[in-house]
Amino acid sequence: MESIQREQKRCVYCGRYYKPDPRTRKTQKSCPEAACRAKRKRQSQRKWTEANPDYFQGRYEKVKQWRERHPDYQRLWRKRVREIQDKIPPPEPVRRMVFVIPEKMLQSEIQDEIRLVRQSGCGFYVPG
Ligand SMILES: [Zn+2]
Repeated sequence: MESIQREQKRCVYCGRYYKPDPRTRKTQKSCPEAACRAKRKRQSQRKWTEANPDYFQGRYEKVKQWRERHPDYQRLWRKRVREIQDKIPPPEPVRRMVFVIPEKMLQSEIQDEIRLVRQSGCGFYVPG
């Protein structure tokens, strides 16, 4: 019994005994249950924001300056993410939508067109 108690810890949140990870045994406070881990995380995040109250304040000015110095960053990041997503095969078969649109159409107008076709069900699908 004593050896079991030495190996096990009591969860601060649900009160059940659990076997802590040997690497974090001293600091681990919750059992591996998702609900208890979520409570633990919320509590520790709250504690951290209370200890660092102005950490998230007034950051936008710095972000804004950084973005001005790196104007292409977001565009390139989006492109890279899109490329990664395109490499992952979709879990379900997809349909291809082909649009015939004027060359000078703006991106927002193209998005509106796509939305319109989706909503109305007009247009036709080309499989593949
Ligand atoms: Zn627990």
